[in-house]
Amino acid sequence: MTLTDVIEKLEAAYPPARAESWDSVGLVCGDPAQPVRRVLFAVDPVAAVAQEALDWGADLIVVHHPLYLRGTTSVAANTPKGRLVHTLIKHDVALYTAHTNADVANPGVSDALARAVGLTGDLVPLQPFPDDPWRGLGRIGDLPSRTTLGEFAAQAAAGLPRTSWGIRVAGDLARPVSRVAVSGGAGDSLLGTARAAGVDVFLTADLRHHPSSEFVEEGGPALIDAAHWATEWPWLDSAASVLSSSGVTVETRVSATVTDAWTRGY
Ligand SMILES: [Zn+2]
Repeated sequence: MTLTDVIEKLEAAYPPARAESWDSVGLVCGDPAQPVRRVLFAVDPVAAVAQEALDWGADLIVVHHPLYLRGTTSVAANTPKGRLVHTLIKHDVALYTAHTNADVANPGVSDALARAVGLTGDLVPLQPFPDDPWRGLGRIGDLPSRTTLGEFAAQAAAGLPRTSWGIRVAGDLARPVSRVAVSGGAGDSLLGTARAAGVDVFLTADLRHHPSSEFVEEGGPALIDAAHWATEWPWLDSAASVLSSSGVTVETRVSATVTDAWTRGY
């Protein structure tokens, strides 16, 4: 298999044309003609993940977050990002990003998150594309039976990989919940959409004090704020299965390295 063959399969599942206009997705470094035998999937293009790729002998790292979101004029090894590019090229390791094109895909990042926290049955986008009701940001789904916010929060925490701060909850823990909206990564731009959708609870990451406080004061759905990395990590298995189910003969591995920005809570 060449890098081109692998990218073709990834882009069939996560078309780059569906990425947001501000985003930067696709091949960051690597020769399209190079052979690919081992593919590591990770959320963040950081030094620990590059080291994991070298230790395992990966030829390609597929990440969710862009290395250079806003472009650059230098990849000199005097910055962490430049050093990462040097390390990867020196060892013939390619780097590929599927970001907002993976968020809006079906199945995408939020489908994997929804399943990880226990939603069953059909999932629909929280904010569908006007031209495609089955693709878009976030997902809405149902719990198999009505429970309380406290029970659901415990279940969500158990279903997501462990991070230093776990999850935070805003709302009455005894509140009944059955219909849930989720959005992997920073989802506070979707707060109003979640309220309009009439869900009982909205689970996302990177929620800030003022929007969250006002949202809860106004009687909006309860909120669950998880670690950003943890909400996107469940998608890695789904992305790896894109390759394993497509007939591409590569070995895949999902990185278990916790790359959430927060490393300790007190
Ligand atoms: Zn993210």
